[in-house]
Amino acid sequence: MQLYETTVTKIAQETSDSYSFFMRIPEGYTWQAGQHALWKLSGYDVAEDDRPSRIFTIASAPEDGFLMFTTRIADPHSSFKDVLLHQLKAGDPMLVANPKGSFAFHRNHPQSLVIAGGIGITPIRSLLAHAAVQNADSDHKITVFYSDDRGEFCYGDFWKKVESAMPNLELHLISDRDEFTERVNTFAKTVGNDAEYLIAGSPGMNKAFTATLTGLGVAEDQIVVDNFMGY
Ligand SMILES: Cc1cc2nc3c(=O)[nH]c(=O)nc-3n(C[C@H](O)[C@H](O)[C@H](O)COP(=O)(O)OP(=O)(O)OC[C@H]3O[C@@H](n4cnc5c(N)ncnc54)[C@H](O)[C@@H]3O)c2cc1C
Repeated sequence: MQLYETTVTKIAQETSDSYSFFMRIPEGYTWQAGQHALWKLSGYDVAEDDRPSRIFTIASAPEDGFLMFTTRIADPHSSFKDVLLHQLKAGDPMLVANPKGSFAFHRNHPQSLVIAGGIGITPIRSLLAHAAVQNADSDHKITVFYSDDRGEFCYGDFWKKVESAMPNLELHLISDRDEFTERVNTFAKTVGNDAEYLIAGSPGMNKAFTATLTGLGVAEDQIVVDNFMGY
């Protein structure tokens, strides 16, 4: 596996327990919005029973001009995340592998519904940062339901920026789980198979919404799931 060396340029706290790590783009490194990669610590040790690498979504789009991942570091957490939280700093090296995955909007559908829960928002940030530059004038309607039970949402002003850049975007930040489910149900009952459905969250959330949607008659090939194994 080829690993590229990059440098951490900034670490930003997004919510009470989520952090974004910004890095420069290594020479020759390219990716597509929505992809993920393996990230490996360089120069730091983790516990004997832990691994020095994790898979994280590349939460930035190529148009951002930087690499970024965002991760949740709750208590207790792994020794890998302890290094991220307490030791890693701007100027440190980080290794990143070639990107993988094909989570994306498919513009052959008239509209897309994004169902994102918690840290599952990372690929959506990347896809919207890309779409805000590439498809802002598109008639492809995108509705985003981004839910967090604690009402803590990553990426601050980013949402205002993409909303003002994309007239085709309808964004809802939701902090009530029942409202989240209800909105998805109502959308699926109204729009049905005229939309594609992108689901990004924990494996449990993804499974539950896939079952809800198929139960409401949405065809399986209209549903695209990004599974964050490990949560
Ligand atoms: C395609 C893909 C994309 C992904 N994208 C992202 C992403 O963008 N952001 C992201 O955050 N993750 C992402 N993940 C998941 C990521 O790879 C990790 O699996 C996840 O972040 C968990 O990290 P961790 O193993 O360090 O555990 P932690 O996050 O530290 O902990 C996970 C769970 O284990 C418990 N735990 C951990 N250590 C201990 C301990 N010592 N004792 C007791 N309990 C403990 C924690 O309380 C928690 O419930 C992605 C995974 C895949 C496959």
